[in-house]
Amino acid sequence: MQQRTKLLIGSLASSLGTIALFTGIAFTSALDFTRHQIPGLLHEHNQHLIEMLPETPSLEQIQAMLPHHETRSDNLSVIDAEGRLLTTPGQRSSVPIDTESLLAASSGFATIDDEEYIWASTPVPGTPYTIVNTHRRSQTTLHDFMKHIGVPIAFAALISIWLTTWGAMVIASLFRRLNEQHAQLEHQARHDPLTGLPNRDALSQTIDETIARQDGGPQTLAVCMIDLQQFKEINDSLGHHCGDELLRQVAKRLNAVLQAPDQAARFYGNKFAIMLNDAGEAAIDDIAETLLGTLENAFEIDGRCLYIRGTLGVALYPQHATTAPALLQKAEAAIFQARQNAHYAAIFQALDNKGAAERLGLINDLRNALRDGQLELHYQPRLDLRSQQIIGAEALARWTHPQHGFIPPDQFIEIAERTGLIKELTRWVLETALQQCAHCHANGWPVNISANLSAINLHDEELVPLIASLLDRHQLPAHNLVVEITETAMMADPARARAQLRKLDTLGVCISIDDFGTGYSSLGHLRQLPVDEIKIDKSFVMDMIASEDDASIVRATIGLAHDLGLEVVAEGVENEAILKQLNGMGCDIAQGYHIARPLPAAEFITVLERIDSKDKPAAALR
Ligand code: C2E
Ligand code: CA
Ligand code: CA
Repeated sequence: MQQRTKLLIGSLASSLGTIALFTGIAFTSALDFTRHQIPGLLHEHNQHLIEMLPETPSLEQIQAMLPHHETRSDNLSVIDAEGRLLTTPGQRSSVPIDTESLLAASSGFATIDDEEYIWASTPVPGTPYTIVNTHRRSQTTLHDFMKHIGVPIAFAALISIWLTTWGAMVIASLFRRLNEQHAQLEHQARHDPLTGLPNRDALSQTIDETIARQDGGPQTLAVCMIDLQQFKEINDSLGHHCGDELLRQVAKRLNAVLQAPDQAARFYGNKFAIMLNDAGEAAIDDIAETLLGTLENAFEIDGRCLYIRGTLGVALYPQHATTAPALLQKAEAAIFQARQNAHYAAIFQALDNKGAAERLGLINDLRNALRDGQLELHYQPRLDLRSQQIIGAEALARWTHPQHGFIPPDQFIEIAERTGLIKELTRWVLETALQQCAHCHANGWPVNISANLSAINLHDEELVPLIASLLDRHQLPAHNLVVEITETAMMADPARARAQLRKLDTLGVCISIDDFGTGYSSLGHLRQLPVDEIKIDKSFVMDMIASEDDASIVRATIGLAHDLGLEVVAEGVENEAILKQLNGMGCDIAQGYHIARPLPAAEFITVLERIDSKDKPAAALR
């Protein structure tokens, strides 16, 4: 039954009930009233008759008057001191009250043959006689009562029914509106307003509920995540309304290929998450084909045909995780694993080295660290061997974990790379480092800042525009920023690396090949890339005094790089002997503990200040 009908019936019933109750109370009050008031009235009547008689009247005088004052219901009689009835000639009836009662009280009730009598006796002063008025009335029934009061009660009932019906309708419509508002709020809280798809929380809950229903049984579940590529470009070049429309169309297409209880949700930004029931590892190829296939055909937006691609990451229950947040996190990590290998889809690959669990625990901590400012940049000075000037510094990330203390960058950078957090981390590094660089410039030290990029950053379409806007914001010449990329990172996806490096080169940013010598690329390879500098890996530099082979490698690399017009940096300069040897080999720039360790920003500034006040800058550091 509808709530409105229920409310209506309820309030009508209660109003009718109230009227019935009041009628009952009124009825019994009326009965009570007559019982208590009538004897008084009869006495008054008797008294009035007595007043009309002469003083000390005779029995005949009394008897003569009474018949004239009788009515249909009032029977007047006279009794003597013993309560005996003294019959009056011409009287209609006699007193139906027994002598005993008459002598015991001055008024009373009696029911005789279904007739109700109320009587009152009043003595006539100066005589042995008493006048008795016996008032007869038929028993008051509810029916009689209603005859008198029925109309006003019916009227009151009508008004009250009208009022309660109206009230019930108003309350019902208020309830309905409240219910609608509640449902709307609930829908909003669980859905993405743009695409109408469930949001991250709703999907998370559905996944957890599905897992709970499975009760650890043999069923499987695939949690997929699709990241749309080129989305940022579309947003930037065609406007947000195009980007929004694209997301709406993607949502529609995903919904079209899914059947309940499978469910798609907008995760955030350009990421969609999908839960597929009973989908195991064997079905992954089909899943990838179906889901990525939804993006194959052109999207028609504003009269244009747009093509986009997506990267798919998949995590499986129960192999990879058993809770929704962990499954979603791993599906997201799988996207980056796919990108790293230049694939369009990948199943989550568990970290296989020891300490994996701890690393996984650190993923969330790292996310928070970035947000809560637990990360810091240290700056390791770079010494120009020709001018003996500190010409810049490499920015190196430092993380002091609130529980685990210092965590080496090698460890957390790897986590950041696996989870995609590297995107956010690199942005933070660039923002912080360029701000620091601008601060140095403003104080008269026109230093360069080197920042490390990961392979994944080469897939970040937003990176180059971000660098451009940061340089612009801080009014820094682009060549003051050096980006260091390892050979391995470049070779993971050479075509993409080339495209991204060209954009950076066009911007005027210096490009440095980090850890040179550890990868498989040759200098010849690098000729095709817009590289400005190579950084010989510290493993060769640190050992060049002891190992003739390493010294030869360093020497040959310096020669070849110079032939190609590249600057050479040697990192891992741990002592004076290495520095001297590098000088002799014509190396351009040196970096290492012998010159300075990576320093907090304030200490790096102190170093620059000390150098300012001396003639020989390099000596100031050692
Ligand atoms: P990297 O880019 O090769 O950085 C140089 C590393 O060598 C630094 O280690 C530095 O402290 C260390 N080093 C410098 N001079 C010497 C020396 O004379 N002897 C020795 N033995 N080592 C020296 P760190 O800071 O632990 O960084 C390790 C790696 O972590 C870096 O290697 C880099 O690959 C990565 N990393 C650090 N910060 C970032 C960052 O902001 N972004 C990215 N993507 N990676 C970073
Ligand atoms: Ca580096
Ligand atoms: Ca290096």
